[in-house]
Amino acid sequence: MAIIEFWGSNIWVFAISAAILGLLVGSFLNVLIYRLPKMLMRDWRKQAHEVLEMPAQDNAETFNLVLPHSSCPHCGHEIKPWENIPLFSWLFLRGKCSGCSERISIRYPLVELACGVLSAVVAWHYGVSWETLTMLVLTWGLLAMSLIDADHQILPDILVLPLLWLGLILNHFDLFTSLPDALWGAIIGYMSLWSIFWLFKLVTGKEGMGYGDFKLLAMIGAWGGWQVLPLTILLSSVVGAVLGIIILRVQRNSMSNPIPFGPYLAVAGWIALIWGDTITSSYLQFAGF
Ligand SMILES: [Zn+2]
Repeated sequence: MAIIEFWGSNIWVFAISAAILGLLVGSFLNVLIYRLPKMLMRDWRKQAHEVLEMPAQDNAETFNLVLPHSSCPHCGHEIKPWENIPLFSWLFLRGKCSGCSERISIRYPLVELACGVLSAVVAWHYGVSWETLTMLVLTWGLLAMSLIDADHQILPDILVLPLLWLGLILNHFDLFTSLPDALWGAIIGYMSLWSIFWLFKLVTGKEGMGYGDFKLLAMIGAWGGWQVLPLTILLSSVVGAVLGIIILRVQRNSMSNPIPFGPYLAVAGWIALIWGDTITSSYLQFAGF
């Protein structure tokens, strides 16, 4: 394959190709982040109605990741393909709907940009390899989960569990670590937060995190092995403190709002998976070991 050889000898071109792919995927992630929670809640409501033997609510209009087509929530203007080019359409439209001039949230281009940049970092770090291909999938998944958790305080099983299994399957082929290390990574990842959760609940009577967080750490352990877990926990408190201060500065009054733990775990886990060895060895060197 000529293109793979070309990428192999031109890492810059490879990283830029990954960035462009990341921008396109980011555009899809915006749809996923917005629609998946709504789809899940519709489903839960329907199931609750069935269990309670209540008459089904008749809202049969199709709502999935593809339909209905994206439109402006303010005026209903349907988004044309040229208005849907990642990043550039938002810049070209100057952040306003072409139908009614209502502002389009800067979050959409930011998610696309973040997805592009993170994808380029992964490609740059791992080069032309299976590691890049699979780590891109994990990166996109973590980005979607973080924002869904930040918006709704849920980490959907439908995203977390397939990626947990994928980590175990990949490490069957020793892609990131050995299968036993990955297996114990998943188990210890889940159990450690589960224990903290119950200890915290017994002592204070409060619930500090959710079961989604346990599964998310299990997933990170399944990809990187149990060795990445201490650094992930450590980094998540650093990330939590830094982002917490930023959020408090921006929102000022949000001290009482629940701050989900998932995004911190996701960011910390991503860093630990990619640079864990480097961070640990330079720390040990710094500490004089
Ligand atoms: Zn509009």
